[in-house]
Amino acid sequence: MVDPKSVQFQELVDELKAVVGDDNVLTSPVDLAVYQCDGETLDLARPDLVVLPVSTHAVQAVVRLANKYRVPFTARGAGTGLSGGATTIMGGISLVLTRMTKVISVEPDNFIATVQVGATNSSISKACERYGLYFAPDPSSQKASTIGGNLAENSGGPHTLKYGTTLNHVAGAKVVLPDGSVTIFGGKVRDALGLDLLGVFVGSEGTLGVATEVTVRLTPKAESVETMLAYFPSVEMGGQAVSDIVAAGVVPAAMEMIDQLTLQSVENAHQLGLNSEAGALLIVELDGARAAIEVERAVVIRCVDQRAAFGVKWAADAGEREAIWKARKSAFGALGRIAPHAYVLDGVIPRSKLAEAIYGIAEIGRQHEVLIANVYHAGDGNLHPALLYHQDNEAEVVRVMKAGREILELCVNLGGTLSGEHGIGVEKVVAMPFVFSESELRAMGWLREAFDPSGLCNPGKVLPNPKSCGESGARPLLRHRLSC
Ligand SMILES: Cc1cc2nc3c(=O)[nH]c(=O)nc-3n(C[C@H](O)[C@H](O)[C@H](O)COP(=O)(O)OP(=O)(O)OC[C@H]3O[C@@H](n4cnc5c(N)ncnc54)[C@H](O)[C@@H]3O)c2cc1C
Repeated sequence: MVDPKSVQFQELVDELKAVVGDDNVLTSPVDLAVYQCDGETLDLARPDLVVLPVSTHAVQAVVRLANKYRVPFTARGAGTGLSGGATTIMGGISLVLTRMTKVISVEPDNFIATVQVGATNSSISKACERYGLYFAPDPSSQKASTIGGNLAENSGGPHTLKYGTTLNHVAGAKVVLPDGSVTIFGGKVRDALGLDLLGVFVGSEGTLGVATEVTVRLTPKAESVETMLAYFPSVEMGGQAVSDIVAAGVVPAAMEMIDQLTLQSVENAHQLGLNSEAGALLIVELDGARAAIEVERAVVIRCVDQRAAFGVKWAADAGEREAIWKARKSAFGALGRIAPHAYVLDGVIPRSKLAEAIYGIAEIGRQHEVLIANVYHAGDGNLHPALLYHQDNEAEVVRVMKAGREILELCVNLGGTLSGEHGIGVEKVVAMPFVFSESELRAMGWLREAFDPSGLCNPGKVLPNPKSCGESGARPLLRHRLSC
């Protein structure tokens, strides 16, 4: 690794500027500080420099220079990730793709669009709106997060329950491989032949190369959409209603729940007229043919009534639907009113274990004296407990990390897993052996080495190595300074 104070490093900076222009290379400490973490703020590590290319050709040149000077590089989209995936824990280049925002083509007859990777998730749907099409994966960060980040994390969202994750909606990707060569995985048609390298790349968290363009599959808008909001005396009762709905044979487009603490924060922040005395708020969305929805709606009403729902309201129009979704999609931001930092977990459990998980998480919070707000993709059993803390209170940070680890263990012990959609990044790297055997991890390591034998592409992420506990990178992260 080149010393950032060396003459050689200055030569790298000069060569990068020649490729992408002076304005697209940042080196001042103030500029670099902006890129020292993503949405997971327990892990802070400044890059040595930030490069903002605007084309595949420029990304390729940057990756080639990183190889020439043996400097690590880490792709970065909007930095909304919640597992430290874009954090440069080994230093080096933060390769920021947010200036690559072009919608290259929309092919409504083929239900596909090709975009540069810096396009935001919601800008894709916007570009296709006039054709009655949209991009189905909808992370709550969709107004900011990029399709490159969505691809790398295999992101989901509230509508994953019915529509699946990003993987189910991507046809192809143009990728700069870690050695600087350019390739295309997948294509524009279904079932491209050969080994499924697109499948390997999606969800690889920036460790197998840098995507520069993505061809996404578009979904026709449903004939009819019905959105319901209901309150419950407790999250357990809401969770039981969710199980009942699925057991009755209805697969809604989305079933999302927030607990009382989150509900109160959202109401304080946005004054949406929500009942913040309720134990939980559940949103159920149905979509499809009008006749089918009428039947499903009756089933949903019966199921929520049986679990003591109150204040049940169906959106009368698009404006009311948007207001209902605001209660859910603004949840994490609203928690900032309680504490400046939130460690958002992403555990998955079998849906039938929801009540057990809820009790367990509350108990862990009590034991470690950590305030926990809960947001659930309830239909998928994907839990987002947000552990609230102040970064300068070291004792609190240690308690938060311990509680976080125990919650993940709880999810795994209940038959679930570490992550539903936020990825492993650096945050959960030491927890990988909870779910994967040595031989499974070794096989993943071989795959990674085949793509990146020099080990320069987003090093220190996803796969644990002997140094992952204690000192995982060239930079001492907060979590490693305080505990392990
Ligand atoms: C308020 C909030 C709500 C959220 N809600 C959801 C949700 O509902 N569902 C969900 O799944 N996630 C959610 N997230 C997490 C996050 O938004 C997603 O993981 C998102 O896909 C990250 O996109 P990004 O552009 O910010 O990527 P970044 O955070 O910049 O990067 C994420 C990872 O992708 C890699 N990467 C980025 N671009 C590329 C590229 N072009 N090629 C290769 N690798 C690349 C990075 O190296 C890193 O490992 C939420 C986050 C926040 C803050």
